[in-house]
Amino acid sequence: MEIIYHPKFKETSYASDPAAEQGRIGCIIEELEDEERLNFFKPSPASASDLKRVHTVEHLRNIRERREKTYRMGALAAGASLRAAGSAFQGTPTFAVIRPPGHHASPDSCWGFCYFNNMAVAIESLREAGKVDTAFIMDFDLHTGDGNINCLGNDPDITIMNPRSEERKDYMKEVESRLEREKSYDIVGVSAGFDEHVEDWGGKLMTEDYLRLGRILKKFSEEKCRGRRFALLEGGYNHDVLGKNVRAFVRGFSD
Ligand SMILES: [Zn+2]
Repeated sequence: MEIIYHPKFKETSYASDPAAEQGRIGCIIEELEDEERLNFFKPSPASASDLKRVHTVEHLRNIRERREKTYRMGALAAGASLRAAGSAFQGTPTFAVIRPPGHHASPDSCWGFCYFNNMAVAIESLREAGKVDTAFIMDFDLHTGDGNINCLGNDPDITIMNPRSEERKDYMKEVESRLEREKSYDIVGVSAGFDEHVEDWGGKLMTEDYLRLGRILKKFSEEKCRGRRFALLEGGYNHDVLGKNVRAFVRGFSD
């Protein structure tokens, strides 16, 4: 399995919000460096034309002119997502340790610590190249990815799932029974937010649940789309548990 990561993601000066906090990326990388059978790959930034497949020219201009550092970090996160999806298409599962996150970024607006929609940039690039037509997006972040929905949700070839069970005991059942009913897709993309953890904002899932989510999505991708799967970091804000939650997911998701 490939981990897409650039040391620049440790820099905090691109924004001042919980996603940009000091130590957040480091706690993930420390855990993953201990894990066996992971190959780290350093991405390049997405180009303006990659971003324009999803965002309006005005949105890009607004961010570039008002927040230059944020634009550069956002383009690097989107570039990492392109690489994650590209490797997944070739058959290597991937996890991109990136920030800023992307699932609250819409074509012409953004909020929630997001600027560019990493998932949509990745999917639309594969679609424009004629590599995939259909995609299943699993967004297990605490918050609904309104940006994913606004960028991709109106397309009949794309299905987005945000699990909504209020109780932990129902959550995996909801995911499993939904995936059992799903048809085949060309690729599975995961908006992997870890803020639903019992010690994070959502107060619901245990670390072992992320291992299970990883396994379920691995199995789904192997059964329904030739194993093509990638995941992009979204939320997750308690640095005491974020690293081990990502590690648990990666362990379940890997080949
Ligand atoms: Zn979130």
